Amino acid sequence: MKKIDGETILRKLGEAIGLDEESFPPLSSRSVFEMLVATVLSQNTSDKNTARTVRGLRETIGITPESIYNAGLRELKSAIRSSGLYNVKARVLKKLARIVIKNYGGNIERVLEKPLDEARRELMSLPGVGPKTADVMLLFAGGKKTFPIDTHVFRVSRRLGLIGLRDGYEEAREKLMKTFPPDSYLEAHLLLIEHGRKTCRAKKPLCRRCVLLEYCSFGQIFLKGKSEKA
Ligand code: SF4
Repeated sequence: MKKIDGETILRKLGEAIGLDEESFPPLSSRSVFEMLVATVLSQNTSDKNTARTVRGLRETIGITPESIYNAGLRELKSAIRSSGLYNVKARVLKKLARIVIKNYGGNIERVLEKPLDEARRELMSLPGVGPKTADVMLLFAGGKKTFPIDTHVFRVSRRLGLIGLRDGYEEAREKLMKTFPPDSYLEAHLLLIEHGRKTCRAKKPLCRRCVLLEYCSFGQIFLKGKSEKA
């Protein structure tokens, strides 16, 4: 089995998927604070539901630290009801807004000006913010050299042997940051997500048409198992 490297993954998936400019969202349409709010609202619900709740919140209360801080708790709960767990989420949002106003003068973007590790630590200390959200913000909005790992990135990387089966978030991040050139983290992250969505799906991966099959023992075993069953 040929061992795969980051450059080959970028080239092969880049040719197969063909990211265009629209694939690189600069977050200009959303403030970092709005992204934090969306992350809190997305817990235990679908993307569709989150998008609907974010829209509703924007139209009723607004999504700024001040508007959420000044809103009544009952009003806030009602505005985010559709995302579920609204009692807990409303309290988290209130806390988040208070910290952003108190510690950052209402401008959480200031964190992104700090060195990577410091900014990451500060973001992760905010209520409702885990390493993935922090890394997404740091990479997309702050242009920092970090590698967010979502469920697709985890799955594809495990199958390709880039990370171990038992690796947690931090180990996986460290390994992927060594696998890919730092200037390509954003591109690599987007390509792995797209590959995971379209081809290396959780159930029934489309290995036969995968451009990485010759490097992937998981895919070859998967196909062998299928042909034996047929
Ligand atoms: S060969 Fe199959 S398992 Fe391997 S990366 Fe491609 S789709 Fe995923």
